[in-house]
Amino acid sequence: MPYIALARTRLAVPRSMFAALPYFALLLVALALPLAGQEYWTVIATRAAIYWVLVSGLNLVVGFAGQLAIGYVALLTLGAYTASVLVERAGVHPFLALAAAAVVGAMAGVVVGLPALRLRTFYFAMTTLGFATIVTQVALAWTGVTGGGIGVPGPSLAAPFDTAQGFYLLCIALAAACTWMTLNAANSRFGRSLVAIRDAEVAAEACGVAKARLLMLVFLFSGALAGIAGGLFATLQSYITPDAFTFDLSVLFFIAILIGGRGSVLGPLLATLLLTALPEFAAPLVAWSTFLYAALLLVIVLLVPGGIADVLDFRSRRALPSGRAVVPRIQLLPALLSYGVSRDDLTLRGIALSFGAVRAIDGLDLDLRPGEVHGLIGPNGSGKTTTLNAICGFAVPQSGTVRIGGTTLPLGAAPRRAAAGIGRTFQTPRIVGEASVIDNVMIGGTILGRATLIETLLTLPRHRREEAALRDRAMTALRLVGLEALAAIRADRLQHSELRFVEIARALMPTPRFLLLDEPAAGLSAIEIERLGQLVVAISRQGTGVLLVEHHADLIFAVCDRVTVLNLGQTLASGTPAEIQAHRDVVEAYLGR
Ligand code: ADP
Ligand code: MG
Repeated sequence: MPYIALARTRLAVPRSMFAALPYFALLLVALALPLAGQEYWTVIATRAAIYWVLVSGLNLVVGFAGQLAIGYVALLTLGAYTASVLVERAGVHPFLALAAAAVVGAMAGVVVGLPALRLRTFYFAMTTLGFATIVTQVALAWTGVTGGGIGVPGPSLAAPFDTAQGFYLLCIALAAACTWMTLNAANSRFGRSLVAIRDAEVAAEACGVAKARLLMLVFLFSGALAGIAGGLFATLQSYITPDAFTFDLSVLFFIAILIGGRGSVLGPLLATLLLTALPEFAAPLVAWSTFLYAALLLVIVLLVPGGIADVLDFRSRRALPSGRAVVPRIQLLPALLSYGVSRDDLTLRGIALSFGAVRAIDGLDLDLRPGEVHGLIGPNGSGKTTTLNAICGFAVPQSGTVRIGGTTLPLGAAPRRAAAGIGRTFQTPRIVGEASVIDNVMIGGTILGRATLIETLLTLPRHRREEAALRDRAMTALRLVGLEALAAIRADRLQHSELRFVEIARALMPTPRFLLLDEPAAGLSAIEIERLGQLVVAISRQGTGVLLVEHHADLIFAVCDRVTVLNLGQTLASGTPAEIQAHRDVVEAYLGR
């Protein structure tokens, strides 16, 4: 064991240093620009740095969480006017004014973000555009404060930031800080949860990700960065009017993320530099910049849908070993699952759930006991998945109760189920394809984290400790299911059967008291089904109550302690495997013998 731990730390250092190389290279180039006497390019680079301050935060919203916020120029406008007006009209110190711009931006970020909780895709995109229009109109109309169409001088900073070089270095420092913070966020439970919301929302909720709270936090943070960017933008422009905040800017911010690649920090950073510099290479093209962006976007979407980040992702092009076999290591279970003394049952009483006229479940009683495997079988459409959804809070029964011991679980409220001790897998695996296998498993441990977003952004000790512990635990879970060799591989490169085991590893992360498996053997080979059966039994003997939905009757009768047979949403029979196999109705209706 000590040897393995040592080997891992030795590996970890060069790899993270390797990942940091491009950022340091960029920083070096940035610092060399003014030294090389490149005054013109220093101004362009100042603008790129300011844009990146905004885009780095927006990247968490768009690239990670997948929210189509296209009107972010509104927050830049608000930040610019807040800083300028405070300095010009109230004599506030420029740095205080920048802080105020951050606060206004953060609040506006939440306002822009609220609709995202109800609206999806382009409906949400339209609201952000609407917000941008309103902000520009207000800036035009509120002449007493904003100067209307005449505008207002931007804040001028005191020495040493009053020169082009000094201001440039300030912007570079802020851009570097933003890069560092968003990288920290990306490699944390926050970043992983955001991507999970984007690509596997239901699985994210089953893992305890509270979407609303998380999105609001991220809108708050990205809004604050956009506000600061606005203040810097006003300083750079030295005079702002509503015309300065064109829709082109919004397009640039948004497209930088698409071109850069979703779920990457380096990609959008490079794309921001590219898009800022692009029109400068050919002055006559400036008027065509929107057209250029659109053309570039089209080319990227057609040729490399994953964006710049995908081009730079060399690791994913290496071939995976073929002929892989999933061999669980059951002896590792005690290292992962250890329980207190709780011996509470999970009980369903009188659950009834209809979809319109379809009675998916019709007065169901069910008892799951810790330490047992309970089989749930029945023909297609008999209500098995719906039963799981009722337990997990994804479907809200019209009547009935779900209890663990003496505690009644609230109906619905799926994100609270993980904390209540319920884990599950899905009939079709719900995995974040673009994330690595180990990241997918770590999503399962989301509720174990305590560090706040601020601690994460600054990688304070509690965050680092939790992150290391979570990674260790996820590695143990992967070793348990026999997939540790694939930990760093993008999950969408795995075979279907491997994904089933990844889901089990993910579900085990928070030590569930009850584990619900929805047809885990579907698509597995005979030998894999056998290993799955052994794993399921071992998990239950560790103290977890397992509910196993399955079509493979052999597996059910081999591993279950008790079996419930559903038909048309009602219990047809319930008992030990022997009783069920002898049950006349079951044999006639279901087993077909
Ligand atoms: P099983 O998992 O046993 O195959 P399900 O629980 O998925 O069955 O479905 C039970 C019944 O409920 C089926 O008739 C199905 O068509 C219906 N049903 C399930 N989910 C929905 C839904 N979201 N909307 C409408 N009907 C649904
Ligand atoms: Mg089903």
